[in-house]
Amino acid sequence: MSLAGKTAIVTGSNSGIGYGVAEELARAGADVVLNSFTDRDEDHALAENLAAAHGVTVRYIAADMSRPEDCRALVDRAGACDILVNNAGIQHVAPVESFPAEKWDAIIAINLSSAFHTTAAALPLMRAAGWGRIVNIASAHGLTASPFKSAYVAAKHGVVGLTKTVALETAEEPITANAICPGYVLTPLVEAQIPDQMKTHGMDRDTVVREVMLARQPSKAFATTGQIGGTAVFLCSEAAAQITGTTISVDGGWTAL
Ligand code: NAD
Repeated sequence: MSLAGKTAIVTGSNSGIGYGVAEELARAGADVVLNSFTDRDEDHALAENLAAAHGVTVRYIAADMSRPEDCRALVDRAGACDILVNNAGIQHVAPVESFPAEKWDAIIAINLSSAFHTTAAALPLMRAAGWGRIVNIASAHGLTASPFKSAYVAAKHGVVGLTKTVALETAEEPITANAICPGYVLTPLVEAQIPDQMKTHGMDRDTVVREVMLARQPSKAFATTGQIGGTAVFLCSEAAAQITGTTISVDGGWTAL
């Protein structure tokens, strides 16, 4: 399928799942806006390399998704937004009674509120273009919970609720809103959780990966960033035009348990 002529904004896309989604959208022919909160030469080089690999236009726009005005400015600066992928996210693991309040606020801002702000800014552009796709990267934790992840689970359930609401508000238009719910994908965000989990559970790395992280992923395999990107491309296809307001799990069977 070809997404030629479409512009996709992917928040939090200088690494991990966001970059994997950007790669698949570029492979399908979309022009892409990469984003994170940093503004380094390597961020812009990432955009140049992706453009060269797929013959599309790729820009890197720095914007901090913890700041509402930056979220809206990202869309404004992009100038077009046919495909919006809300992917930026952070994690913190701690029991609820000792969960730092500033971590709670940051997770809600970056993982949930940013999707509200970018969506609000992008919808007028989609309506003007007569076509739009909103793909929110939620999580298996948007559908189920785990201990020690109160803010993340709350934010991801919120993303699923936001997705359904936006889908209803756009239901009669050629715009869809869906959420992808990945299980564990091996990215820097997951890598960063391993030391905390080792400490919390008193286990070595291999045991924590198999017994704790992949304990609820029946496939016992991490999903890949390419698989999440491929799912996003499918949601942008004509075959998915009547898929809206729902979640697609890419979780090796996690939510079937
Ligand atoms: P990652 O740490 O590799 O990527 C996170 C991205 O968000 C990075 O590009 C980072 O720069 C960006 N980011 C962080 N704070 C930001 C901010 N304030 N403003 C703009 N960008 C910011 O992690 P990942 O695993 O690729 O996670 C991407 C998304 O996928 C997150 O929403 C995460 O919750 C979700 N997810 C990940 C997994 C997994 O197993 N890795 C599973 C389910 C859902």
